[in-house]
Amino acid sequence: MTKHTDVFAQTTDLIRSVGKKYKYKEDALEAFISPNRIVEVSLPVKINDKIKVFKGFRSQHNNVRGPYKGGIRFHEEVDRSEVMALSLWMTLKTAIAGIPYGGAKGGVIIDPKKLSEKELEELSREYTRKIFDVIGPLTDIPAPDVNTNPKIINWMVDEYVKIAKEKGLNFSDEALFGAFTGKSIENHGLDGREEATGYGGAVILNELAKKLGKTPSEITVVIQGFGNVGYFFAQFAEKNGFKIVAVSDSKGGVTDREAGFVDGLDVKKVYACKLEKGKISDCYCVGGVCDITQSKGLTNEQLLELDADILVPSALGNVITTENMKNIKAKAIIEMANGPISPEAHEYLSAKGIVIVPDILANAAGVTASYLEWRQNVEGIKTNHEQVLKELESILVKAFSDVWNEAQEKKEDLRYASYGIALKRLLGNP
Ligand code: NAD
Repeated sequence: MTKHTDVFAQTTDLIRSVGKKYKYKEDALEAFISPNRIVEVSLPVKINDKIKVFKGFRSQHNNVRGPYKGGIRFHEEVDRSEVMALSLWMTLKTAIAGIPYGGAKGGVIIDPKKLSEKELEELSREYTRKIFDVIGPLTDIPAPDVNTNPKIINWMVDEYVKIAKEKGLNFSDEALFGAFTGKSIENHGLDGREEATGYGGAVILNELAKKLGKTPSEITVVIQGFGNVGYFFAQFAEKNGFKIVAVSDSKGGVTDREAGFVDGLDVKKVYACKLEKGKISDCYCVGGVCDITQSKGLTNEQLLELDADILVPSALGNVITTENMKNIKAKAIIEMANGPISPEAHEYLSAKGIVIVPDILANAAGVTASYLEWRQNVEGIKTNHEQVLKELESILVKAFSDVWNEAQEKKEDLRYASYGIALKRLLGNP
């Protein structure tokens, strides 16, 4: 079994087992699991004066609640099974967030770092031409994902708008830009999209703290990954009064652990140092760490095992597994990365009473912000930065509360409850 079929199998196994307990019929669950449509496209692009043909996919999983929605990734390991699994996750995620979308995912098998900028632009435009007929502002709305960014999305939407006008599609100019989200702010994008996912995670952290009966200043937080999600999570959580006691990137991290988590790190200073030095593990002397006599750097493995209240994996999948689950000391985990805890480790940690906020709830603010961007383009509802954060907060607070209450009622964990809620919203009552 490849890594990707593994992820698909794990997700579908969970849907089957949760669905069965909710008394959905087996055939209804099987019909739900399989994507409505998977489009496979050939992408000829001139590389060094020679045409090379790349392969791309778009998996449109489900559109019962609204247009298909999901990112496009450019990666060597993309395959059909991966986009299927990720499109299914998107269907669940949009249902849990309660936004009027379905789920989709796209991908191209390519290492984008091997292409020149011109070649990358041509590949992005060719992919758009090939999937043009199956996407659109009211049909399927792609966005950035791994190795794709606003610049790439700007090329794609430009190509989309050009063809749509040639074909005389019946949309206003602004609505045509709603065919993609994750555009740059100057190009009909959303002011607030960049920090949305990390911000949403920090909102979830606030809600979780209330459920744990603690104030932010009493809670210590450890964050693995200091990219888009990890950094903004850290910044907003610190602003809300939580103590961020350790952060890391791929090369390792820093902590004020030896001082007993007294003050926490100064997140902005650590970030500025990372930008300057290239990696966090070279940043012992910023963010208060220098003042602490016994401070030290640490590996990513050590970071995951710190004795802090809340652990926030925000980098990669499968970082907590049977290998290290017995060493995890956190009282709660917020899964900001997709799939950071293996199913066996999830079962073990949940049985020990560790509260785990599942990825499809914890990082749902990204797609929710995409919805606000799309709404601005298609429905003309303008939303400024402050309003974006406010609306994200209210959507995330409700989603968390729905899942928490369901878990209490069913006496199950939060992942079970979030799958249960998604199934009810997608399939109706059993
Ligand atoms: P990013 O590339 O901006 O940052 C990733 C961070 O992880 C970097 O700090 C990197 O140094 C670190 N990292 C890489 N390998 C590591 C390792 N072996 N150990 C520890 N740290 C490591 O990516 P991102 O956008 O912040 O996304 C992080 C995760 O969140 C991914 O799983 C992504 O799928 C998920 N996610 C992101 C969004 C979003 O809006 N950006 C939305 C939903 C889910």
